[in-house]
Amino acid sequence: MSRIFNQMGVKNNQNKTEQTKISTLLEDLASLESYARDLFSFLPIPVCFISSIGIVLEANPAFGNFSNYEIEEIVGEPTDKFFNPEAIEEISRETFEKSFIKGKEIDLVTKQGKEIPTIVSTVLRKSEEGEIIGYFIALFDLTEIKKTERGIRNAQTALLNMLEDINEEREKTEEEKNKTLAMITNLTDGLLVFDKENKLLLVNPQAQNFLNLEIKKVINKSTSELNEILVFKPLIELFGREIKKIFRQELSLGKKFVLEITTAPFMVDEEKIGTLVIIHDVSREKLVEKMKTEFVSLAAHQLRTPLSAIKWTLKMLLDGDLGKITSEQKEFIDKTYISNERMINLINDLLDVTRIEEGRYLYKPTPTDIEAIVQFVINSYKDEIEKRKIKLDFKKSEKKLPHVRVDVEKIKLAIQNLIDNAIRYNPAGGKVIINLKQSDDGIEFSVKDSGIGIPKEQQARIFTKFFRALNATRIDTEGSGLGLYITKNIVEAHGGEIWFKSKENEGSTFYFNLPITPPREKFEEFIKKF
Ligand code: ADP
Repeated sequence: MSRIFNQMGVKNNQNKTEQTKISTLLEDLASLESYARDLFSFLPIPVCFISSIGIVLEANPAFGNFSNYEIEEIVGEPTDKFFNPEAIEEISRETFEKSFIKGKEIDLVTKQGKEIPTIVSTVLRKSEEGEIIGYFIALFDLTEIKKTERGIRNAQTALLNMLEDINEEREKTEEEKNKTLAMITNLTDGLLVFDKENKLLLVNPQAQNFLNLEIKKVINKSTSELNEILVFKPLIELFGREIKKIFRQELSLGKKFVLEITTAPFMVDEEKIGTLVIIHDVSREKLVEKMKTEFVSLAAHQLRTPLSAIKWTLKMLLDGDLGKITSEQKEFIDKTYISNERMINLINDLLDVTRIEEGRYLYKPTPTDIEAIVQFVINSYKDEIEKRKIKLDFKKSEKKLPHVRVDVEKIKLAIQNLIDNAIRYNPAGGKVIINLKQSDDGIEFSVKDSGIGIPKEQQARIFTKFFRALNATRIDTEGSGLGLYITKNIVEAHGGEIWFKSKENEGSTFYFNLPITPPREKFEEFIKKF
């Protein structure tokens, strides 16, 4: 301080005013040491002064608070008490070498042994004579920064993990995509994929082959453009239908090539995002089916003539035309006659089925009173009903029903099949309720019975050819399993619908609905189908 005074004294010797200023400054400077001490005390940053041999000579209250030691417990103690010995050793060496250090990290150990991360700055302290007497060390608490840093590092790790997961997922998806593509390419069925706007997105090699397509000419074309191509016409017709359903249709290309086309919508959250068209070659199945039908038809025709001959011979015997017979002989001939009749009925059913399948089951629709047909069929079962004590109730419509254009013989057969089943699969004394009424779009017929019902697990197969439920075969060994198949075909050929409700051991109700005027195309479409 006296050096500063001297320098100033030399510089300001000239005038008196200056000298007064200097003496005031001198007074200020005299108290500078106490200012420095105050500043040291109130400095919020932990600071201490360390001697050149590593002993703490002074520490400010902030250092005390920070380390949780009383000042007396700090002053005179070696620095190892507060810092890691090697780390503080390095800091003092560097300070002595460079005069100061900025921004070095070191942990301060508190009285409780807790390590607080800090960043330190040091500055060398020399005596007035220029001799090194130690250094100041100021600490800055890094706890919060470290915490944030750790948070950032964690976030970074999480992000990296996420990126890794995404990458893995991407690779998996890519792999799945390749697998799917390989499957699509090597599929034995043809596959077409249309997008939401019905544009053709994908055609697999088999579809190209089946439909004889040139990819360039069809890809990315809309259904309206594709409609121009002959082979697409029936396929695109399926698109117009209800969007959520799966449709199947056969498509004959040439005489021997038959394809089964299935369209299925791609749905995501109830929304259609595209359509899948699967083309399956059913030519072989169709050929086998045709051969089977032809065989059955031939066999049935061949059997019909001798069975008719037997029928008439038995009839002549029964009528006594060939001489008198005993009652015992009559009993045997009666049974043979009934069995022969069953055979004739079966053959007729088989012939109906083959005609349906070959598209030769012709329909001659005429305006008809359905009620009269139902009544006629009921009357034909009069004896059977009485014999089995069945309570049959025919609930006619209160208002006069309109005439319906139907093929009388075929509809009679359909009604007869349903009533016959209701009586046959009913125990003696059971109930049959027949109902005929006008429906929204035509006439609805139903026959309800209190019979054996149809087991739930077998209901899906009820309209298929030759199917008989197990409970039915147990009580009645005579059925052929063809009646409902024929009935369904007849009803549908009239543009109608057939369905049923049934519960095992409780009974069944069979329904059909016929439109008043069957659309002419329906007959034709039906015939074309086979
Ligand atoms: P069939 O009566 O000659 O066996 P159908 O085609 O008429 O042939 O009927 C097929 C099968 O459907 C029957 O064998 C029987 O299992 C079941 N079925 C049809 N109608 C009824 C009914 N009313 N009650 C119980 N089962 C029925």
